[in-house]
Amino acid sequence: ESNVERLRNPHFNKGTSFTQKERAQYGVLGLVPSVEETMELQTKRELQHLRRKTSDIEKYEFLMGLLDRNVQLFYKLVTENISECMPLVYTPTVGQACQEFHLIYTQPRGLYVSLNDLGNVQALVDNWPEDNVTTIVMTDGGRILGLGDLGANGLGIPQGKLQLYSACAGIPHHQCLPVILDVGTNNESLLEDELYMGLRQKRERGETYDHLVKEFMQAAQKRWGRSLLIQFEDFDNTNAFRLLEETRHSYTTFNDDIQGTAAVSLAGVLASLRVTSKVDGGKKKLRDHTFVFLGAGEAGTGIANLIAHAIQEEAVDDGEEPISEAEARRKIWLVDSKGLVTKTRKDNGELQHHKIDFAHEITDDLIDAVKGTEFEVKDGRVTSLEQTVHMLKPSALIGVSAIPRTFTQSIVEYMAEINEVPLIFALSNPTSQAECTAEQAYNWSSGRAIFVSGSPFDPVDVELESGEVVTKYPGQGNNAYIFPGLGLGVLAAKATTIPNELLYVSAQALAEQVVDEDLDGGRMYPHLSHIREVSAKIGVRVADRAFKLAIASAKRPEDLDAYVRSCMAQPIYPQTRL
Ligand code: NAP
Ligand code: MN
Repeated sequence: ESNVERLRNPHFNKGTSFTQKERAQYGVLGLVPSVEETMELQTKRELQHLRRKTSDIEKYEFLMGLLDRNVQLFYKLVTENISECMPLVYTPTVGQACQEFHLIYTQPRGLYVSLNDLGNVQALVDNWPEDNVTTIVMTDGGRILGLGDLGANGLGIPQGKLQLYSACAGIPHHQCLPVILDVGTNNESLLEDELYMGLRQKRERGETYDHLVKEFMQAAQKRWGRSLLIQFEDFDNTNAFRLLEETRHSYTTFNDDIQGTAAVSLAGVLASLRVTSKVDGGKKKLRDHTFVFLGAGEAGTGIANLIAHAIQEEAVDDGEEPISEAEARRKIWLVDSKGLVTKTRKDNGELQHHKIDFAHEITDDLIDAVKGTEFEVKDGRVTSLEQTVHMLKPSALIGVSAIPRTFTQSIVEYMAEINEVPLIFALSNPTSQAECTAEQAYNWSSGRAIFVSGSPFDPVDVELESGEVVTKYPGQGNNAYIFPGLGLGVLAAKATTIPNELLYVSAQALAEQVVDEDLDGGRMYPHLSHIREVSAKIGVRVADRAFKLAIASAKRPEDLDAYVRSCMAQPIYPQTRL
């Protein structure tokens, strides 16, 4: 390796932090400014430089440029300024970056696997220069955030997610591999753009598509081992559920849109129990609540499944009679674009597979509950959210429909009438798609609602029934609270599969880190600045459960807590021995 390589290789580069001794040794004296700076000082300069950029996309480009020149400095900057940097390397800015990916391209930062490579994918995988890859995030660009099909431009999402694995949970950068499975795109404007860098064809579906996904997963597992973590990201829901079901037993894999979302949302519900249990006739347990979802897609059914699982575990933990899966699921109802999902709905024959478990019967007492009112059930059908809410009288409303302003004033007011503390979760992203705003949820409930959102909302001053004005700080159910810590635990235990139990304990560990001060302010999640500690605690809990479930292929260390923490890389320069 030549002397200049030391400066050019972002894994080794220390820039002005090279000591005089190192400079002499590597023959780079005079090739860097003569000052010798600490990493702290370098970070200070980079932060200033970042803040000089006037648009978020320029800030994004600046940060990617920093990653290309100095990996450790990038992670030190992002880790120490996580609240400022997360919205740049991740949603919302990464969404814009994906839309413009072909315009801001400078160099490859991941593996490109396309339909043209069918039958030859192992060779591509073997070309990747790192022998110790532990963590892959892959997408086919099918449904990027709420932005639709972005084809090969979707690679920005796996990159951003993996940067958070490293920043939030210390998964070493060189162990992370972002992958784009290029199967074409139905995005006309990209297909017509001469600068677009993906396959110029309509999105492939069917067998050929499945073959490519599986050929890649097999090749990756062959090279990097059975406990290689492979995360599915932003596949559309015609593929997401099926691929997850088909691969989850033979790979260490999960789908963040389905399962990560589920865990972060469940954590918000678990934290809410600490509030709802304190009011008169308090709902202390998950099983005391009734959940209505608006939206029955990846996020909706993912959350619903995990809540049902949690209801069962909770009963066992409490020493209660076991609750059957079917019984747990009856606490949860889904409303989709056609209305309430029920057993008798006319489209039952074609009800999508992922909704079937939550298609319940409308019993006579439910019909009686709204008889003679404007919400009366006609022909056994319940067509609107408002009708559903009047019939079922839920305690929690969870919005994952991507349809804005669907939690109307009359719905939220009714929730506040029948619940002292209604749970109003408007999880749809981005902000413009939220089912209601923080201000609406608080004002329409006289400040009694617990509000959780998918995108960040500013604090709101709200007048309580007593006339007192208080400030509420709505919490954001950001998936980044879960997946880095989950991955850390899975890697520490070398788990060979990721069952619901691991997602459940992740949610529990997250909820436990919400302090009373957060709850008092209305925030159901810890502050982002504590994310490394949050991830560590989740990691320990996940690894512990993996050992107990006998799905770990590592040997259990004596001190699991210390071991998991020792797996977390710090953003510091590697020591050079001279
Ligand atoms: P998806 O799989 O496409 O599901 C969307 C669901 O919404 C479908 O069930 C659809 O009904 C339903 N829907 C559409 N229009 C509706 C209407 N007018 N009334 C009622 N339901 C309607 O999408 P997804 O992956 O679940 O994502 C949904 C939203 O959740 C997105 O905005 C996403 O950003 C957000 N999300 C948030 C987080 C987070 O906060 N951490 C994480 C993941 C996703 P049909 O089934 O009848 O088509
Ligand atoms: Mn996603």
